Amino acid sequence: MPSVQPGCLWVVATPIGHRDDLSARAVETLRAVAVIAAEDTRHSRPLLLQHNIGTPLLALHEHNERDAVEAIVRRLLGGESVALISDAGTPLISDPGFRLVRAARAAGIRCAPVPGACAAIAALSVAGLPSDRFVFEGFLPPKAAARRARLQELAGDPRTLIFYESSHRVAESLADMRDVFGGGREAVLARELTKLFETVLGEPLAELAAHVAADPDQQRGEHVILVAGRGEEAEAKLAEGQRVFAILREELPPAKAAKLAAAISGAPRRLLYQESGESGMGNREW
Ligand code: SAM
Repeated sequence: MPSVQPGCLWVVATPIGHRDDLSARAVETLRAVAVIAAEDTRHSRPLLLQHNIGTPLLALHEHNERDAVEAIVRRLLGGESVALISDAGTPLISDPGFRLVRAARAAGIRCAPVPGACAAIAALSVAGLPSDRFVFEGFLPPKAAARRARLQELAGDPRTLIFYESSHRVAESLADMRDVFGGGREAVLARELTKLFETVLGEPLAELAAHVAADPDQQRGEHVILVAGRGEEAEAKLAEGQRVFAILREELPPAKAAKLAAAISGAPRRLLYQESGESGMGNREW
């Protein structure tokens, strides 16, 4: 007998590509609940049919989440069990569901996970970058200025950074990361995970950005970008760069002082300039 309890909200992960990455417990739960709240019912139906799941669906997406939540919470309080799924992977992870889970918990309803695929974690598991500490940043802002500002905020973070990116912005974002974090920072592009054209490219940002810009195939499909955090070696270079910059700045204009200090220390020119508190440097590559 399935272990579904009435009045429980089951948050169920679905595959991010390979259809067999739907767990046995996910199938069991999706069959047993009264209704499945899905981000896009047309998108989810084929997956559910492949697994002989005939449970009724209702839509819960970004645009109706506020209204749909109320109705779903009412059903849950009435003793019905509900499963929440998104188009791919784990609900709430750059996907709808936050409002529903929050409202359900506030109403005293049990929320239980049925874990499974998540692109960020799948990518981290094969990237070969430090995985003891990482930060999930989801999608960067689509506009260049806001994106660069967000990257600047993250430039000093020692943890591995994980981003989702859409195919039409991946080349642009990698170029921005190269400019802001420095071309030497290790990065990985995990593309089309669990699908036919899965590729996992690991290169310093300067090479990765050039590689992806030159190869339209690498811009197709779905992408996770992972960037190593600012490491100890980089910290030491930066400290040396700041020391040299401060000396040169006595005699030279800031841009020139940053350029020379970067060449002497190996620290990113942009970061030297930024951390010195001076502003006005253009978006030149260093
Ligand atoms: N909820 C999903 C999860 O658990 O990973 C993420 C949904 S978000 C709307 C979609 C983004 O996830 C894509 O733009 C891409 O950045 C990433 N993604 C999803 N599937 C992927 C895959 N198979 N390979 C690489 N990235 C993927």
